[in-house]
Amino acid sequence: MVSLTFYGGVHEIGGNKILLEDKDTRIFLDFGKGFSRRAKFFEEYINPRTSNGIVDFITMGLLPDIPGIYRDDLMKMAERKIEKPNIDAVLLSHAHSDHADYISFLHEDIPIHMGKACHLILKAILDRGQRSIEREVLDYTPRPYKRGEKHIERKINTFRTGDKFTIGSIEVEPIHVDHSVPGAYGLILHTSEGPIVYTGDLRLHGTHSQMSWDFIEKAKQVKPIAMITEGTRIDVRDKHESEESVFKDSYKIVSSTNRLVFADFNFKDVDRLKTFYNIAKETGRKLVVKLNDAHFLKYLSKDEHLDVPNIDDEHVIIYLPKRGTGTYSDGDYTEKEREFLNLSNAWTAQEIAQNESKVLCAMGFYSFTALIDMKLKSGTHYIHSASEPYNEEQEISQERVDAWLEHFGMNRHQSHCSGHALGEDLLAIVSDISPKSLYPIHTVHPELYSKSVNNTIMVEEGKKYSI
Ligand SMILES: [Zn+2]
Ligand SMILES: [Zn+2]
Repeated sequence: MVSLTFYGGVHEIGGNKILLEDKDTRIFLDFGKGFSRRAKFFEEYINPRTSNGIVDFITMGLLPDIPGIYRDDLMKMAERKIEKPNIDAVLLSHAHSDHADYISFLHEDIPIHMGKACHLILKAILDRGQRSIEREVLDYTPRPYKRGEKHIERKINTFRTGDKFTIGSIEVEPIHVDHSVPGAYGLILHTSEGPIVYTGDLRLHGTHSQMSWDFIEKAKQVKPIAMITEGTRIDVRDKHESEESVFKDSYKIVSSTNRLVFADFNFKDVDRLKTFYNIAKETGRKLVVKLNDAHFLKYLSKDEHLDVPNIDDEHVIIYLPKRGTGTYSDGDYTEKEREFLNLSNAWTAQEIAQNESKVLCAMGFYSFTALIDMKLKSGTHYIHSASEPYNEEQEISQERVDAWLEHFGMNRHQSHCSGHALGEDLLAIVSDISPKSLYPIHTVHPELYSKSVNNTIMVEEGKKYSI
């Protein structure tokens, strides 16, 4: 009566798309983009087309071929049968692309449930622009494009930790977990056969580990009949890492120089953002944020739980990149960006370079063209504060980063703490919760669970598992 089918996240890190069925109720747990799967066939100059609707995505295995879930416009372009959606909801664990982005393809009548902070992050991403078919989570523009056509909004429901709500025969209980993005949740799903728990992505070594412990405690109490766990770093052991050591290491670098310092990190990682904001404050510098990251400050500062500075904070500078005409005129920027342009704390590359001992730049590889405008002399510092060689969401070319550093004579430093629990922590979590059966996903080493945990199922993609 209750079953699980995994359409993504199988032998890969991310791309989770888990179908939970209970009687007539059908729910997807996440509907993310599988980066490694996409990178197998596509790269910078060859991308899946939309002129075929969803055909390219389905043919190349980026989306599962399931009737009754996708947008009518894309089905029509694919010359496929248009059907009423037969999915009751998507439960989104957090805002990372590998869990959220392929919601873009789903039918707008399917309600999407997510945490409040997760919703704020997705709004910031939307305002940042760069609309593409793979980034239409909150709303979408029907294809083929017609001038002036309105966006179609999805049905979004938000929750906070401990809220309970019912979808058909399933009662959902989201509990916050600590991860490298705020608004991350583990889920307890009370089905007609018993409770199923889903970890989403989580860690125990972060600043807010108590949140993960709240989830573990609750999950243990319900005595789950099945547990779906992430296993990103199941093969990593005995590593000491914490946000505090990122602070200490980076503080040392910043406080011992008068030169420019660049910190390259994922801006959605609010703990990291606060780490560098505090380092800037304590070293008498101001944190320079990129124009498109200003959207995150604008939205996330609205959530008092997150304690994020707003765009007009006295310790924040907004970096104004040179675009279009090169004259910083309004017309060079998008409508959503214009509200930041005339702020007194919006600085050009030149202004930043003139104040090099007074700023800490939250700018990474993607803003390296700023180095040209800064006429950077050698001896500055670059702190890489993300995982190597991948960050969670994108593959960046290490060689290319190094070439820029060498060209401008920058000193390279590495300081990071992961968003994912270590191997020993993952095994401790599973043994603590002690589910009847375990489904490891979001990992390339699911077998490492079966050595320590009885009744571990080696998940096969597309196979339906009765619970
Ligand atoms: Zn993930
Ligand atoms: Zn994640």
